[in-house]
Parts: sequence; structure tokens; C-alpha cells
Amino acid sequence: MIVAIDGPAGSGKSTVAHAIARRMGFVYLDTGAMYRAVTEKCLLSGTDVSDGAAVAGLARKVLIEFSQADDGTQKVLLDGRDVTAAIRTPEVDACVSEVSAYPDVRAAMVERQRELARGGDVVAEGRDIGTTVFPQAEVKVFLTASDVARAHRRAVQRSGGDAATDPSATTDAATESKVLESLRHRDGIDSSRASSPLRAAPDAHRIDSSELSLDEVVSEVMSLVERAREAKGAPEAPAAPPKPAAAGARRATREEPMPSHGATDEDYFEHGMTDFPAPARFLYHFVCAVVGAFTKVVWPWTIENGRYLWSHTEGHGSVVIMNHVSMLDPVVVAVSMWFHHRRLRILYKSEFDGSKVVGALFARVGGIPVERGTADLKAIRRAQRALQRGESLLVFPEGTRVRSDDQQIDIRGGFSLIAQMAKADIVPIAIVGARRITPEGTHWKLPGRVFCKVGEALTFDQLESKGRKARLEEMEAKAMERVYELRGDLREEHPGKE
Ligand code: C5P
Repeated sequence: MIVAIDGPAGSGKSTVAHAIARRMGFVYLDTGAMYRAVTEKCLLSGTDVSDGAAVAGLARKVLIEFSQADDGTQKVLLDGRDVTAAIRTPEVDACVSEVSAYPDVRAAMVERQRELARGGDVVAEGRDIGTTVFPQAEVKVFLTASDVARAHRRAVQRSGGDAATDPSATTDAATESKVLESLRHRDGIDSSRASSPLRAAPDAHRIDSSELSLDEVVSEVMSLVERAREAKGAPEAPAAPPKPAAAGARRATREEPMPSHGATDEDYFEHGMTDFPAPARFLYHFVCAVVGAFTKVVWPWTIENGRYLWSHTEGHGSVVIMNHVSMLDPVVVAVSMWFHHRRLRILYKSEFDGSKVVGALFARVGGIPVERGTADLKAIRRAQRALQRGESLLVFPEGTRVRSDDQQIDIRGGFSLIAQMAKADIVPIAIVGARRITPEGTHWKLPGRVFCKVGEALTFDQLESKGRKARLEEMEAKAMERVYELRGDLREEHPGKE
């Protein structure tokens, strides 16, 4: 079920939405925080907010996540950094409406909002939830309050209080009039913009909260929710804590069934490999068998300590990271996993999808495309869900094939973020012997022996650093160091192999 709560700034949407989410055990989605996070990114990176194309570019790239703080409140993370307080400053207030008026920024945010809510029970609050983001929402509320009441609440909130729970809270008149001016400025832009302006959906239930207590508003919305549940024939509401719409949390949502006919490439990225339609599953077995047999003959490959790669706990996939020297690397890992009945998804650069046939083939054998050079949130989420289903994920942090030890490498740390989000461990592997199978400037291949070595899984609880970002960086460094140590071992064991 989706509960959409829209309304102007300071009308009490967040407090009400959070209370409903807590009572119902629904995911809470604060869409205003997402526009605020994009604005904060502009301010941090010195991007001119009047440059729509630049702002939209940032909006498509930034990583915005929600997680739950120890005290049950919601934290907002921007590219892994906690910006919960930073996005509520007057500087962000002053620019957020300009940022959120760009249609391309809205398109990027709406796509993420739908993704976060996919298939689950959600309370979403914002300006365009009932009209644009979830026009199908079962409950739509448009919450308003007088300008003066809204400015008072916001000013109290800024001073660290909460007018909803403490009606006697006060601030000084000068502060309230400044806040009022800022709210009116934002409301003006939000209501008059061309793209999804602040507007009540025709079927929204309007509530003016100026003279109502928080409890009164919440119970009015709750009765709408109960009525919608009865209409749907659902069981009674559970009293459970709210689930943040956290990309890092295990999804509270169901996966829609995979279409058995006419599945698109997207369907393959979004579903478990065991749910793929029979022809795709057959293709996977066929490709692994044929390619496996061929490569074993031409480049007889072996995997030392393979048990670290193939061992498996039900429902827990591992992030497998590997140095990248040739097209043989993914084949070796994929075929050996297939042989040991383990499912593997390979994160591959989306440039390979240039040809429709290649894109379709990669999708059907379990590949997940990633747009390089961006924080590709969609790919990160798909990878996270795959891991949570028990599929493993092969990532090449070097990003491209490394043809010599002098080559400049820019390690991409996304693998560590994905593992942290999915609570997965990281399995390091090194490969030698495949670097020279395609002589420089040619397309033909040279046969030869290829060797791999797997290291023990690395887990986040082994790390010493404190703080999310520091832990990510420590894991990234440690895991890559381990890959290169394994490569060093292999080079010693098999002199001349690179
Ligand atoms: O809800 P909040 O006041 O935090 O929202 C900040 C700003 O984000 C709003 O003033 C509006 O410009 C923008 N916004 C939006 N659409 C939404 C949510 C917020 O345009 N769904």
C-alpha cells in the first residue's frame, strides 16, 4: 500500500508521515530530503544552481541513502557521508526550490523514489507524491496549515524543539518572520514551477493542521489508511517500528514475478537467476558448458583454494573481486561457479551493451550493467539485491584490462560499498597467465596455462576503522592489497606468468 502525503513546507508532513510509518510498520520515504541532498551536493561541489544541465548531471550521479540512527530517527547519507543536519540549513533552504524545479532533476529523483518503494508498503511525503510519483497511491493526503503556524513550527524545529509534541515551545518574533519569508519564497517557486508543481491531487483528502494537534492529524490519516486496508481486504495494521527507505537495509518488499514470456533485459537485471524463464536458464547452462570446455582445452586453467569461492551460506552471496588481465577472467570464475552449482552475477561496464544482441545475451546469463564514472545507484541496488538472494557478484575494481604493471590504475571502490550495503563478505581472487593471450595489436589468441588463487573471505567485522566511510576505505584498500598479494604468490609459483 502507498500512503502519499503532500503539502507545503512546515505543514507537518514529516512528523505525520513518520508517525504513520511507525504505527503501520511501513517504509518512510522523505522525498524532500532527496532534493535537499542534491542541493547540498551543488553547494559542496561549487556547482552553480542556476546551471540546470550541471545540476541535473549531479542529480543523476549522487548516491543518496537513508538509514536508521540508533535513536530510531532517519539519517540521510550523501555519497556515504552523513548530511542529516547539513541539508536543513538556511543555505540549502535558499536554493532547494530552484534545484528541484529542473525537470531533469525531478525525473532522476522520481525514478529513485519509485525504485525505493517498489512493491512495498510506503508512506511517502513531498510535493508531487499523489500527483506524479505515485498517482496510484491508495491514500492521498494534502496537508496544509496557515503561514504563521508553519513558520512557527519550522522556527521551533530549527531551535532544536518540536512544536508538534510541545505546543508551548517558543522562539523570537524576528526568527519566525525570517523563516516565514523563506517558506513563502519556497512555496512560491514550488507552486508555480512548470514541472510537477505543489498541488493537491483531485482525489486527495485535505487536512488543515493549523488548529489541530499532531495526534488529531495522525488519527485522521490513520482512519483513511484503515479504510483503504479494509477496501483491499488486508489484515489489521501491525504495531512495528518504521522501516527507513534505506538502500542498505534488507528490502521489506516482495519481488514481482518474472514474466515467463517477453521478459525485457531489465527484468533479468531485477530478478534472481533461478526465476529466469527456461530458455534463458538453458542458454546459461549451454554457454557455461561450451565456453568452459573450450577454455579448459585452450588455456588449461586451475583455481587454487577454490573452496573459498564455492563455499556458500544460504541467502548470502559474496562480492568476488579480481584483477583484470583478459576476457578469460570472468569466464574462469563464472564457469567454475556454475560447475559448483553457485549462481554468479557479473558487474560489467554498460559500454558493452552498444550492440543489442550482446546486451541481451549478457542480461540472460546474469550480467548486471554498470555505468562507469558515475555512482550508478540502479546497478548498486541490483547488485545488493542479488547478494541478498544468495547470488554472488563478480566485480573488477581495476575497471579495465591491465596490460602492464606500469599501467595507471584507478581502483573503483564501489565493490566495498555494495558489500557493506548487502552485509556480504568479499572474496579476493588473482589470475595470472592470461595477460598475453591476445598479442598487442591483434585479435588472435595464444594458448597457454592460466592460474588463479583465491583468498579467504574478508568481512567488515575484521576492520579496525570507525565510521562508515573510513570502514569502506579500509575494506577497499585491504581487499585490493590481498588480490595483489595473491597475484604475487602466483607469479612466484609460476615464473614468467603475468
Ligand atoms: O519537504 P521539504 O521542505 O524538506 O522539501 C524541500 C524542498 O524540496 C521543497 O521546498 C521543494 O522545493 C522540494 N521538493 C519537491 N518535491 C518533493 C519534495 C520536495 O520539489 N516531492
